[in-house]
Amino acid sequence: MEIKIPIYNDIWMDNAVENLYRLINDSEEEIDINLDKTELTVNTNDKDGLRGILSSIIQNNRNTLIVKHKDKKTGEIKEIKKDFVLIQEGKKIDGIVAFKENIYSEPNKSTSEILDLIEKNGERTCVVCGNTFFKPYKKLQQASYPFVTKIKSLSGVRTYKDGNFYSFREYYDNFCPICYMVGILEWLDSRIIYRTFPGDKSILFLPYFDNFEDLVEFKEEYGPLLNKSERYSNIRVNLDEDKTEGTPGKFSTLLCFYEKFLLDIDYENVIGRNWAIMEVPFGSVKNIKFRMLNLTDSILGVMKELIGENEIRVYTNLIKETYFFIDNPKGAPVDWDLTRKIREKLSESFLIDDFRSFSRMLLPRKGGKVGYSSETRRNLESLIYIWRLKKMGISKESLGSIKGVGNIVAKVSKNNLSLLYKLDKTRSIEDFWSVLREISRKLIGIDIKKAKVRPTSLDELIQLLKDNEAQWTEIRDLLVVYSSMYYAIGSRGGEKK
Ligand SMILES: [Zn+2]
Repeated sequence: MEIKIPIYNDIWMDNAVENLYRLINDSEEEIDINLDKTELTVNTNDKDGLRGILSSIIQNNRNTLIVKHKDKKTGEIKEIKKDFVLIQEGKKIDGIVAFKENIYSEPNKSTSEILDLIEKNGERTCVVCGNTFFKPYKKLQQASYPFVTKIKSLSGVRTYKDGNFYSFREYYDNFCPICYMVGILEWLDSRIIYRTFPGDKSILFLPYFDNFEDLVEFKEEYGPLLNKSERYSNIRVNLDEDKTEGTPGKFSTLLCFYEKFLLDIDYENVIGRNWAIMEVPFGSVKNIKFRMLNLTDSILGVMKELIGENEIRVYTNLIKETYFFIDNPKGAPVDWDLTRKIREKLSESFLIDDFRSFSRMLLPRKGGKVGYSSETRRNLESLIYIWRLKKMGISKESLGSIKGVGNIVAKVSKNNLSLLYKLDKTRSIEDFWSVLREISRKLIGIDIKKAKVRPTSLDELIQLLKDNEAQWTEIRDLLVVYSSMYYAIGSRGGEKK
């Protein structure tokens, strides 16, 4: 028999095809299998042999679906299904997970039935691949295609094809056995990146390409970064260690992945930058949130440059070293909840190339301020230089002027943050000019020597602004970053050693 599976241009199904190809290839069984840019082909005269291969890859990779947990009291080892795996589970028997999906509970029997169905020709049209088939093995469900939901209006797949609407029932019934088998086995993919927040949700990342060859190469390259036996996160802290990262959210997870990929992996030409991000909630109703994230070449370039020339990892050496300190005369305790939120938002702003929102995250807030060590500050400055200034064509001297004014803003904001907030909120260049005039007036009131500020930097900044009027928002955002930075340094407890 010959099975041909063309590219779906569907993120779940294409990753699933790649996964099936890799699992069969890794099993080193004798079979004629080929994956080119747009199609997977399996050719065999030995249907029973193919069944044997399929059921053995399911058995041998079952560990991808579960984690093992040792009971502290009894020392007993129990299996736990990974939180995001959408295959239903029955009651555990002797601590072993019992999947309520025949292909996982009885792989031999199930694959044999599926192959029999695949062999037959029929008249029905599959809603996922559009091919005709004889009879479904199982109807369309989240376990084999997670984007489908029980609520029709939320359903992630089209409910019509070629201009014809499917009825609700036809829609779920017209699911071919090939799509079922490919889709349900995607859970065995050890290259799905995940991060689980207990009691809340899991976030899954799947790379997207328009061809199978690049997808295969990219997933093969980053595979070693992941440790599938951990429950809550699978990005290794270090390549040769089992320990995994505890990132605060989805964007920080992806950022963390990239810095490891760029630093630890000898990649060739293929670097994925398009991702599907799936949020799988805890609880019994699993309506999955889904979004695509396409990173720009320019952000990827910034990460590469920081790692390549400076060995600075944006997440580990900068964002993860940023804290929110609570104003407290007895010391400077950290608000961990807010710290994690700020770290996540900084990661997001960077990945989506939004410097405005990045700069605002660093502003002092009611009750405290964002702070970091002097080493982290240097890393932040390197990031800003590569991310913003180089591109804007602003020289390092001009940066000196922005920093000088930032220092003034920090000093005059010492007892009153309204000026700093006003600066951040400027909506037009006129507003900006007016804030600069206000800074100039405030300067009169402070002891320049004692405050260690450089008044001429204000004149230089005014000149810089006149020469670069079109880029005034960039200059404003840079001024916000540096004002916040000097504010954090100047206030008690702001500097973490
Ligand atoms: Zn199909």
